[in-house]
Amino acid sequence: MYGIDEYSKLIKVLLSKGFNFQNFLDYKDSSTVYLRHDIDFSIKDAYKIALFEKDIGIKANYFFMITSNFYNCFSNENFNLIKKILKFGHSISLHFDPTCYENLEEGFKLEKKIFESKFNLKINIISLHRPGPFLNKKNKKIGDVHHTYEDKFFKDMDYYSDSGGKDIRHIINKLYPRKDSKPIQLLLHPIWWTQENNNPTKRLESFLESNMIFLEDQTRKNCKTFLK
Ligand SMILES: [Zn+2]
Repeated sequence: MYGIDEYSKLIKVLLSKGFNFQNFLDYKDSSTVYLRHDIDFSIKDAYKIALFEKDIGIKANYFFMITSNFYNCFSNENFNLIKKILKFGHSISLHFDPTCYENLEEGFKLEKKIFESKFNLKINIISLHRPGPFLNKKNKKIGDVHHTYEDKFFKDMDYYSDSGGKDIRHIINKLYPRKDSKPIQLLLHPIWWTQENNNPTKRLESFLESNMIFLEDQTRKNCKTFLK
């Protein structure tokens, strides 16, 4: 909705002020930004942002769902896009939805095993989708894995998010690293930064339209009697 030019401006402002972009769990100081991308809608948008970040020379942290109603991480096309994102130097991990399971620990164990074996890596930290009551015990790891709501990544850091398409550009533009400032966790959702639209609804309508075209094409490929 803000478009890639605005994204570029935002990142360049942070770089010009001396902020550095790190993977979660890497060393941090008062000028560190953990740039987090939760992928709720589209892997194609994640890829576009990841490519831009590679070209400008920063690292980000991508979190994908394997229980999404919107995309499948393991379709041939998406799987290859995620592998490219990893190759660009970004970190990838799970965006875990605890509401999908009666037994959260068991559900997580299964997702971790699948994601690790498919992408041939080890997960150290995840982000949560709709954490809900999970936050009552927010400093507890899930299995042996950290998550981004733990105090050390949340309370002990400055946290900013564009959830729902919220415009935080004016806040980010005013930030300066200071000796006494906390590192930053910055949650930006790629879908708000890959296309210019007037508001979140318009952006999501555009997303739905492009999915309709995609799904019609897939339907045609998968069923000869579909004549549209
Ligand atoms: Zn989410």
